[in-house]
Amino acid sequence: MKVLIVGSGGREHAIAWAVSKSAKADKIYCAPGNAGIEEYAECVNIGAMEFDKLVAFAKEKEIDLTIIGMDDPLVGGVVDAFEAEGLRVFGPRKNAAIIEGSKAFSKDLMKKYNIPTAGYENFDSDEAALAYLETAKFPIVLKADGLALGKGVLICNTLEEAKDGVKTIMEDKKFGDAGNRMVIEEFMTGREVSVLAFCDGKTIKCMTSAQDHKRAKDGDQGLNTGGMGTFSPSPFYTKEVEEFCEKYIYQPTMDAMAAEGRPFVGILFTGLMLTEDGPKVLEYNARFGDPEAQVVLPRMTNDIIDVMEACIDGRLDEIDLQFEDNAAVCVVLASDGYPVSYKKGYVINGLDEFKKHDGYYCFHAGTKRTDEGIVTNGGRVLGVTAKGSDLKEARKNAYAATEWVTFENKYMRHDIGKAIDDVEA
Ligand code: AMP
Repeated sequence: MKVLIVGSGGREHAIAWAVSKSAKADKIYCAPGNAGIEEYAECVNIGAMEFDKLVAFAKEKEIDLTIIGMDDPLVGGVVDAFEAEGLRVFGPRKNAAIIEGSKAFSKDLMKKYNIPTAGYENFDSDEAALAYLETAKFPIVLKADGLALGKGVLICNTLEEAKDGVKTIMEDKKFGDAGNRMVIEEFMTGREVSVLAFCDGKTIKCMTSAQDHKRAKDGDQGLNTGGMGTFSPSPFYTKEVEEFCEKYIYQPTMDAMAAEGRPFVGILFTGLMLTEDGPKVLEYNARFGDPEAQVVLPRMTNDIIDVMEACIDGRLDEIDLQFEDNAAVCVVLASDGYPVSYKKGYVINGLDEFKKHDGYYCFHAGTKRTDEGIVTNGGRVLGVTAKGSDLKEARKNAYAATEWVTFENKYMRHDIGKAIDDVEA
């Protein structure tokens, strides 16, 4: 098969790696890709939002399967554009990707179908939002309705902060049109878990769990980022929690989307908060998480193309998803200053070391090939993943491997997976 992957981050690198392991993939393309993806795929200079060019490329090269990694094209309807030309594509259509594209939509869906989530109100105007805040309890959570690179969520401790937050989202439009509407939500406390699942519109099959670290600095301090590291599985996602989520969250979400005439085919990412009152949904995403994909896919033993084709053909019930009985940790190497401002263009050394060690991966996020070699080209530069027999070993291995790579302005968190220590404590 000829496979096209759309995207350019660490997640797409992990997908490209998984596709390269498939017995079915003969040729892999990636648009636009990055310097790491080049190892498995021919990268083509087409942006993820250039739907006409992507479709034309897929037709010209007779691509058998296109996999969409990123949220923006999915929410923008790239799957519909491919399907309109009779091309096979993996991902939700626009009317289903809205589960990520509009937080107001997903909250209303959960309310209508009794899926556990935080209490909330949706707002179309800043006046109404400000009036609501006057009688609200704090802390409180403000969310821009649309896509905001994972950064459109503000946790406000006081009325003053929340008023500023409404201004930031709805008046100053810090997150652009994503802030035309907003959700104001009850603040929850608990452990967070991410669960990715393959979906065929009717059946949902979950992958092994993972936990993200969204804040920029150690101790969950600093600004929200796209994600600074992950570990998998989460020891807090017990059998009991899993059974609860299967019964009250995952299948009900599938059924709700189908009942709304929006059958969901692709990857559904459920962000959960394990509260004292039980698991509740924080958010849904319509694609693999980044860097969750970087710890989940290396542990999956199925042929990824088999599973994706089963989703497209509506026969996911035939697939037995399997994961290795081990653990993985991913530590993101970023450019110092991310997520605010940072310099790019520094030469990266040590990348070859990963080829010498099994169970170690260096997924590229913001890198570029130049005459001087591979250089930094983004806030999140690389995702260093290592496996181990358990989480502690995986964490030790991942941090050891972060030392193999050097570049100027290299920055990382040193406490990825620290929560693991609480399990025995
Ligand atoms: P989201 O993009 O909706 O997952 O939000 C990003 C992050 O903000 C989450 O991973 C949580 O850490 C935090 N967050 C979102 N909603 C809430 C909430 N209702 N209560 C507490 N924290 C939240």
